[in-house]
Amino acid sequence: MSKTIKILGINRHRLKTDGKGVTTLVALPGCPLRCEYCINKEFLQQTERLQEVTIEKLIEKLSDDHCYFVYTGGGVTFGGGEPLLQMESIVSFLNACPEEWNLTIETSLNVPYVHESLLQSERVSFIIDIKSMNKDIYERYTGKSQEQTLCNLKQIAKQVAGGRYYVRLPRIPGYTTEVHIDESVEALCALGINKNNIQIFDYVVE
Ligand code: SF4
Repeated sequence: MSKTIKILGINRHRLKTDGKGVTTLVALPGCPLRCEYCINKEFLQQTERLQEVTIEKLIEKLSDDHCYFVYTGGGVTFGGGEPLLQMESIVSFLNACPEEWNLTIETSLNVPYVHESLLQSERVSFIIDIKSMNKDIYERYTGKSQEQTLCNLKQIAKQVAGGRYYVRLPRIPGYTTEVHIDESVEALCALGINKNNIQIFDYVVE
């Protein structure tokens, strides 16, 4: 029986927002974290939008943009929620989609492991939202332990070439100060992550 994937939505023709070239964002449901300023909370709970499709069907649907992907070096971005909750389906997608398509995974890395095929494939990149490297702040802000995230981050720093990932480090109002940001950068560098792979940005809270 062919593998399926649960999806919440598809957003086409994105340019340089979440990966190289032209990308199509495939939003997947569910997230293990409960971040205080999550802008996707309602979206993640819209179960009436949930569709379960076979990997073949999804590839067929996304193939309308095959030429864009090929000519711009783009491809498909899996976001969410936490796309790695459906890791096996993403691995099947990687194995079945045209080899010119690149895949980007937007993740918090707070999952039990990251599949070897995703770590090893030159076609896969990661955008990692790390929240904070400070254990207490992380737990207060997300409601979850940081342990799995750190373990997976170490794997990525060890196995994945620098050009295939970057780590997003947010300034979180009411949670992180500039001192915390500097400490997080230091902690990331101590794991072997190059400063050029760290992107500091502001969470805008309304
Ligand atoms: S990791 Fe992202 S989707 Fe999940 S709760 Fe945090 S902000 Fe929301």
